[in-house]
Amino acid sequence: MKDGKAVNQRIDSILAPYAQRNEESLGRVHDYLPDPHRTPFQRDRDRIIHSNAFRRLKGKMQVVPPNEGDHFRNRLTHTLEVASISRDIARLLGLNEDLAEAIALAHDLGHPPFGHSGEIALQECLLPYDEFFEHNKQSLRVVTHFIKAYPDHPGLNLSVEVLKGLKKHATVPPTLEAQLVDIADEIAYIAADTEDGLRGKFFTMKEIEEEPLIAALSPPARANRKALAGAIVGRLIKDLVQSAKGKIEEMGIKTQADVIQQNKRALLFYRETAAQFRSLKTFLFQHYYESEEILSATKNGKKVIMDLFLFFKNNPELLPKNETQASTERQIADHIAGMTDAFAQKLHAEYHQK
Ligand code: MG
Repeated sequence: MKDGKAVNQRIDSILAPYAQRNEESLGRVHDYLPDPHRTPFQRDRDRIIHSNAFRRLKGKMQVVPPNEGDHFRNRLTHTLEVASISRDIARLLGLNEDLAEAIALAHDLGHPPFGHSGEIALQECLLPYDEFFEHNKQSLRVVTHFIKAYPDHPGLNLSVEVLKGLKKHATVPPTLEAQLVDIADEIAYIAADTEDGLRGKFFTMKEIEEEPLIAALSPPARANRKALAGAIVGRLIKDLVQSAKGKIEEMGIKTQADVIQQNKRALLFYRETAAQFRSLKTFLFQHYYESEEILSATKNGKKVIMDLFLFFKNNPELLPKNETQASTERQIADHIAGMTDAFAQKLHAEYHQK
């Protein structure tokens, strides 16, 4: 049984031939009564937005801790930026906007508290137990197992195409929609972090202007710091769409089946832009992500995670019920990864008093 036939067909009729069609979705693990008013992916999007895990994104830091200022991104605003960029790219390429949006909205649901350092902390905790933590894979675990909103099944029961889109890094994504979200994520953070890094005075405009990607922007775009992220996003979307159109043609992708058969990414920047992108990323690592200030501001978060891990290791009976049959250590990571920064800190303070 499928969701909204009429609305599916209306949208499918305007999609490019290599897009994921709503009518061709492989459906969900658990059957539902079809919804006449929404496509399957619109339904997925709504389920994601209405989940607790989605609301918790606002309490998870992106790069800068929330007490540093009101205007820095958090994981929720980052997610919304990725969703908006994904929709734009999808529309410009004739791809399925709703599928791209749903994948984008769920892509960071598995991110632990305290940003990148939180992820590193969990990886270090799991290392002795031969387990690895990776936030993309965790997002998939969250939507399949840990969101408990429906009585008949765990998770959100999302469409197969959204789940496959969340399996980042494992293989080449089987739809162009999933491929584009990977890049939209990169566009969103590089643009936002350039702007946030300037805002936080981690580097100066003069320094960042030496980066070829920034130097290539128009002078008025560079002059307006408050809209710098928008200018970078605009330029990268334009570049990506042009390059993707060429690549799709060059690879002979005519249908959705061709996308799977090719098993190579068609959505890539031009070589020169990719080099500029990498250079800016290295700059941000040196001046921002791994700067003294950020490392020391996130040191505490890392310690909170490591202490909590040890605490649950010694008190596994305090872990919430986890039906995945994973190792205790993995279950601890599952539990901690779901926490907001503030919740983790509060729990840490409580357990420390015991
Ligand atoms: Mg992300």
